[in-house]
Amino acid sequence: KISSLILLLFIGFAPKLNAQKKSIDQRVDSVLKLMTLKEKVGQLNQYSGREVTGPTSDRKNYLLNDIKTGMVGSMLNVKGVKDTREIQAIALQSRLKIPLLFSLDVIHGYKTVFPIPLAESASWDMSAIRETAHVAAEEAAASGIHWTFAPMVDIARDPRWGRVMEGAGEDTYLGSAIAKARVLGFQGDKLGGVDAIMACAKHFAAYGAAIAGRDYNPVDMSEQQLNEIYLPPFKAAADAKVATFMNSFNTLNGIPATANSYLQRDILKGQWGYKGFVVSDWGSMREMVPWGYAKNGNEAAQKAILAGSDMDMESEVYKKELESLVKSGKVDIKFVDDAVRRILYKKFELGLFDNPYKFSDEKREAKVMNDPKHKEIARSAARKSIVLLKNEGNILPLKQNFKNIALIGPMVNAKRDQAGSWVVYADTANITSVYDGLQTKFSNTTKFSYTQGTSVTDTSSAGFAAAIANAKNADAVIMVLGETWDMSGESKSRTDISLPGRQEELFNAVKATGKPVIVVIMAGRPLIFNSIADKADAVVYAWFLGDEGGNAIADVLSGDYNPSGKLPISFPRNVGQIPIFYNHYNTGRPVTKPKDITYKSAYIDSPNDPKFAFGYGLSYTNFTYSNLKLDKTALQKGQTVKISFTLTNSGKVAGEEVAQLYMQDKFASIVRPVKELKDFAKVKLNAGESKTITFELTPEKLAFFKEKEGWITESGDFKVMVGGSSDSIKLETSFELK
Ligand code: BGC
Repeated sequence: KISSLILLLFIGFAPKLNAQKKSIDQRVDSVLKLMTLKEKVGQLNQYSGREVTGPTSDRKNYLLNDIKTGMVGSMLNVKGVKDTREIQAIALQSRLKIPLLFSLDVIHGYKTVFPIPLAESASWDMSAIRETAHVAAEEAAASGIHWTFAPMVDIARDPRWGRVMEGAGEDTYLGSAIAKARVLGFQGDKLGGVDAIMACAKHFAAYGAAIAGRDYNPVDMSEQQLNEIYLPPFKAAADAKVATFMNSFNTLNGIPATANSYLQRDILKGQWGYKGFVVSDWGSMREMVPWGYAKNGNEAAQKAILAGSDMDMESEVYKKELESLVKSGKVDIKFVDDAVRRILYKKFELGLFDNPYKFSDEKREAKVMNDPKHKEIARSAARKSIVLLKNEGNILPLKQNFKNIALIGPMVNAKRDQAGSWVVYADTANITSVYDGLQTKFSNTTKFSYTQGTSVTDTSSAGFAAAIANAKNADAVIMVLGETWDMSGESKSRTDISLPGRQEELFNAVKATGKPVIVVIMAGRPLIFNSIADKADAVVYAWFLGDEGGNAIADVLSGDYNPSGKLPISFPRNVGQIPIFYNHYNTGRPVTKPKDITYKSAYIDSPNDPKFAFGYGLSYTNFTYSNLKLDKTALQKGQTVKISFTLTNSGKVAGEEVAQLYMQDKFASIVRPVKELKDFAKVKLNAGESKTITFELTPEKLAFFKEKEGWITESGDFKVMVGGSSDSIKLETSFELK
């Protein structure tokens, strides 16, 4: 009886389920049928609209007219309930009343500014990362935004490139995990709620590998590197159902990404079966002309649409050229229809056809924007992002016997800088400086005296004397140094990534007083600061931590928070080592052994290894690794091997360790890296506590990409390495894949 009831229920429900599943597609089709070619092209057009809400101008009139006549699918840079509502109302005057998508670069926070993405990646804490993306989405959504151009999931192995600040660093495995966390954070489990916005995996693809770290430069790379190192974070985002992709400014092996059919049609929409849409990067369609890849806008539009670029950000080549390209038969209408379908689908999924003002509630906007919980989340994320690089003689946490502390350096009072690049609101009134944070924390016990000493870009040493005098009168010195916020970010590549100006010189002068010196560094990238790394008593890497930076730094310096961050990117000793990354290759001329080789693969003026390695970061406690075990030492293809070990907090305070699993495929039909991250676990342990950690090496983690063959696994020996950093392997064993 029960089974026939279930059957009846099933029969009863099945068609409904089916209808529901099909309904968006059907609704999309029904809209598409009504559309003229011109209106279809309109949906593929995206403008930046700062002017549209500004004073009357020719540009404003032009944009408003296009919006009113259905010639725009999306606007970027219009924000706030009032403005988005007003512009949406104009779009709804168009013949088919198709709502606009409002998009914006919500990169590390909307109203509340969180740590820059690279900083947050140092937390290796996926739930924290997901949470800040969620809050950013909640605030942006409450302000009328439907779509963020984030996360940037470009792997970056070149700290000269200014956009390293915007990504997850150098590693593909970590980068893929973070890509997924950020997408889920922005979008929630499913689009359609009023606190979720569409995410955008960008920049497809390999933008981070621009030659010599110069932004927008070409990229030239093997299939193997592309597939193994650069594409997996995009695949992870696609698997997490990221609503959109953005392509990139660079060429890949000679073809602009915007016209790269191999990337967009074969891989993304073909192999990966991706159903969302692809937006071009800002003007990247028309940039095909100066690249020398298209003779004019007409050719650029043709190449872009055929290659699977669905929406044109700011080039206006679709708007101007697509209609005639279709009419002349140079572009089959099916390409245009496919692009329009993808975009309409998202508008339906967001619920905008049912209620175009769904995200336009002024009361909710005011409430969400001032939610005090968001500050707490920002502080927590900021603390987790800090990396303790050095702590000689355990000078940190700050001892109570430092009654007088000298604060020196250009970043002591920094506020705007801590917000970093890519912020919507950098409201300095919301940002705590290190000075503020320390005053609040230590007001009862410590006297702080501040001297700037130098600015970030000073060329004179006029301020040094006062700083030295200040140091001499103090029990200890905290120097806060760094780059300014606008030295990293888009088009902010540097050839010299040492601490700018005379800051390192100032450090040396202060250190010469003999006082203990703790250095805090703020930056959007790994900097080079060798004398500080060698001589300072402690070094705290604070990146740009957002609104709560000063408080978070005080939490770490005081020991109220035990630092747990680990570097998501290698810190070079000098620019000549770049690109430098932990998953490098052996050569036929190993540096260490055998000792009798005279000509080694080494520099004559620098070690090969970085100053600080990927995965590195200290804590106020110690962790020991023991008891490594595999559940099998020989496995058949397709099997999983379980790797377990004991992690112990052998120090005196509670702390968190990021235990890292690396693997090496020892011999293969193509040379493999010396190690590759395959898993990690962030584990909280009380003093004296131990835990068994188990990682699983699944078959896909044993695979590599081989040109012409794709992803394969090969029999052979695999080395397993476990430790707290890529350069500090504590346990090692191996297994055989049959
Ligand atoms: C950047 C993108 C960004 C876009 C819109 C471009 O210059 O490369 O990452 O989303 O501008 O602001």
